[in-house]
Amino acid sequence: MYGFSRAIYRELADEIIEDPSRGAPVNHERVLRACESALERLATDRHYFARPARTLFNDIRIYFPMSSQLRVLHVIQRYLDLADEFLTRLPQNGLDAYGNPLQCRASTRRGTPCQRMPLPHNGYCPSHQHLAKTEELEAPLAA
Ligand SMILES: [Zn+2]
Repeated sequence: MYGFSRAIYRELADEIIEDPSRGAPVNHERVLRACESALERLATDRHYFARPARTLFNDIRIYFPMSSQLRVLHVIQRYLDLADEFLTRLPQNGLDAYGNPLQCRASTRRGTPCQRMPLPHNGYCPSHQHLAKTEELEAPLAA
C-alpha cells in the first residue's frame, strides 16, 4: 500500500504549492501524509470508506493551483482504482494488506466484536450475512 501512496505523491509533487516564507516544504509533507492515510484506510477499513478518491481529493486539493485540480483528481482516481483491485486480488488468508487478521464487522450479542473470518465481498462472516442485506436496504434511505 505504501507503493500506491508514494506513486500518487510522486505524480503530483511538482504541482504542490508551497509558501516560500515558511522555508520548509510543509505542504509536500501534508500531501504525502494524506495519501498514506487514505491508502491505509482503504487497506484496513475498505467497507466503511465510501468514496476514497473524493475524500482524498478534498483533503489535498487546497495544496494545488486551480489549473491542476482536474489532473489531481484523475491521478488519485487512477491509483485508488489500482489499489482497490490489488486489495480484491489479495489471497483470502484471513489477513489484511498489513498482515493483521481480518474480522467480521458485526458485534456479538454481548457487544464484543465478532472474531469470525469475514467474506471478502461485504466484510461479514457467514452468520452475520443478513446484516449486509439490511445495510443495502438502509443505504438508499439514508442517501
Ligand atoms: Zn460475524
